[in-house]
Amino acid sequence: ASQDDAPATSAPLYSPARVRELLTRHGLKPTKSLGQNFLIDGNILRAIAEAGGAAPGVPVLEIGPGLGVLTREIHSRGAQVTTLEKDERLRAVLAETLGDTDVQIIWGDALDFDYAGLPAGTRVIANLPYYITGLLLSRFMRAPAIVSATVLVQKEVGQRLAAKPGTDNYGFLSAIAALYGSVRHVRDVPKGAFLPAPDVTSSVIRLDFDRDRPAPEPEFLKFIEAALHHRRKTLRNNLRMIGHDGEAIDAALADLNIRADVRAEDVALGDLRDMAVKLGVIR
Ligand code: SAM
Repeated sequence: ASQDDAPATSAPLYSPARVRELLTRHGLKPTKSLGQNFLIDGNILRAIAEAGGAAPGVPVLEIGPGLGVLTREIHSRGAQVTTLEKDERLRAVLAETLGDTDVQIIWGDALDFDYAGLPAGTRVIANLPYYITGLLLSRFMRAPAIVSATVLVQKEVGQRLAAKPGTDNYGFLSAIAALYGSVRHVRDVPKGAFLPAPDVTSSVIRLDFDRDRPAPEPEFLKFIEAALHHRRKTLRNNLRMIGHDGEAIDAALADLNIRADVRAEDVALGDLRDMAVKLGVIR
């Protein structure tokens, strides 16, 4: 018999039958506005935990445990798990699925959490709520204690994270990911691996943050955000829009041998840094 046919109680936590049973018994309906798409595929769960570096003694932060399925997989590998959940309706189900573990559950909004207080060497492993993926990734990047983030994101977000300058998907997210470290596409995940199935394919992405590099200056982050703000516009136009003088921009572009009509998304990060120096944004 397939996992689906097994009696709910003995089936693994992640089987579709068990996830449905947990939802029904606890009177829960997945909430779309909270990005609740629960994983029901054991292979995917194992692949995320494995790629994320869940191992004995490793501090792991998960965002959004949901029913606790991925949490349990990470915990079973010996990691020290802290998990942040906003939806208080999940209290009873998490007491049931994680009650026999030492997983620390913090109730609250992941956007209000103080990532600066995490233990050094923390690895984030999460099936992220998609509506705040970009915001959360930028919080992880800025937290020196976090060394990697292995996350399930919409495939299109994964493509943007990994994109290089001059390619279609390149933008601010690609630029900051490259500034802080490196990006690896682990695998795609079909819609059927979730309950309910999301509208689009997902990808597991691992970001490694190079904490030996000096953190990018906040002024430089603002500068590249503005430089890449309007796709398909020239770099010159985007910089004009944040108040830089046209002549100064032209002189800087000429000095750096960059075409005056270059589009922002075609400029290499090193050249953007040189532009920022020439325009007096950073030293
Ligand atoms: N980890 C579970 C899994 O893989 O089956 C659930 C993942 S589901 C895509 C996203 C989870 O994040 C849900 O449990 C949802 O309630 C939670 N969540 C949504 N917004 C949140 C927020 N702002 N802060 C913390 N958790 C949030």
